[in-house]
Amino acid sequence: MSLSFRNFPFSFALIAAAWIAAPTIAVTTSSAAEASATHAASDVSQPQDLFWIKVRAKDKFERTRIADLGVTIETIKDDYVVVIGSKEHLKKLQGLKIVESSYKIDLERSPLDFPAKDANFHNYEEMRTVVQDLATRFPQLTALDSIGKSHEGRELFRLRISGDLANADAKPAVVFMGGHHAREHLSIEMPILLAKHLLENYATDAEIQRLVDGRDIHIIPMVNPDGAEHDIADGNYKFWRKNRRDNGRGSYGVDLNRNYGYKWGTGGSSKNPDSDTYMGPSAFSEPETQAIKNFVDNQKNLTTLLSFHTFSELILYPWGGSYDQIANVKDRSVFEKMAQTMAGWNKYTPQKSSDLYIASGDTTDWAYGTHNIFAFTFELDPADMWGGGGFYPGQAVIPVVFQKNLRPCLYLIEYSDNPYRVLEPTAAAYGLSSPLIN
Ligand SMILES: [Zn+2]
Repeated sequence: MSLSFRNFPFSFALIAAAWIAAPTIAVTTSSAAEASATHAASDVSQPQDLFWIKVRAKDKFERTRIADLGVTIETIKDDYVVVIGSKEHLKKLQGLKIVESSYKIDLERSPLDFPAKDANFHNYEEMRTVVQDLATRFPQLTALDSIGKSHEGRELFRLRISGDLANADAKPAVVFMGGHHAREHLSIEMPILLAKHLLENYATDAEIQRLVDGRDIHIIPMVNPDGAEHDIADGNYKFWRKNRRDNGRGSYGVDLNRNYGYKWGTGGSSKNPDSDTYMGPSAFSEPETQAIKNFVDNQKNLTTLLSFHTFSELILYPWGGSYDQIANVKDRSVFEKMAQTMAGWNKYTPQKSSDLYIASGDTTDWAYGTHNIFAFTFELDPADMWGGGGFYPGQAVIPVVFQKNLRPCLYLIEYSDNPYRVLEPTAAAYGLSSPLIN
């Protein structure tokens, strides 16, 4: 007799409901499997030789026996479960003669997913779908390509937006990036939503049309896709920060925002591969930072850059690797003016990055120090760990945080033609020629 959801223990009913509600592949771990969660998590961290395995199991006792083998139970149905396991797990299950089917996991095609409560966040495959969809819907305004590949071979997508693509290199350029740090998923949503906003309002909003027509806008939503996918790889957040370089001896990851090559390794970063702020074996040692470097080096028209991170509600600008002020007084004034102006909208705190602590090798020090790009880091919502969920604030904040950060983004686009223009008296107040949005 088949078991209805109503007859499941409460936690299983919840899991079943979540599975139905999730848009793609909901990844759940049964409470019965929690005892082996540590083991299971380390299994999932290995990208090679993992299998989806459909296994007959009709009740919690049978599922527990399966979970005890060290696999992760991802989907529960009345008379079967779908688990992720290694080749050895597959052999054991086949020995028990309960395997219905199995196939090897292709990370490109079978991403794991956010917990169902946060399904609105974009995993790698969903991000890819969104940017490809935008490129398809707005062919006259977009060019989609990849600036490189991650350690595990995922594409680092760049969506280029301009009303005059053929001459975009001759327009002033700005780049928005997200997802340097794996667990900062909200930072990926901002560039995605900005791209959508610009394209979907182009035809009806004269101000957006003017900005898009006059600028060359680059969106790189997910700089660290391996880390982001790893962070959600068993449906439970791992607080993962780094990329997924194999450092040997079971250690993984380089802190991409300590790996940039301007005064790399001069403080606030670690030489220890186990550290969350591991700087890497050399500057730009990582394919992800190398790709950003190549992109910025070659995109000569870039004048402004915004790298989204979470959290703390801050607007940061160089220097991060030194307590020094920016020596060029005019440049410093531009950074301060821009940061203060943007803070007028999102109510974040504007400050020199090293006012927090020294952190060398970040994106903005390199972009300004090497290319004189006016480069900012936004530490998005929430303000702290206690009020808003820290790195995992919940999907309800996504539209709210986007709305408060939209005007700062439009402002950067506006002034990317000549950032020094913000110092002119006519650029007072919010500095825009006309209201951009309500
Ligand atoms: Zn970060």
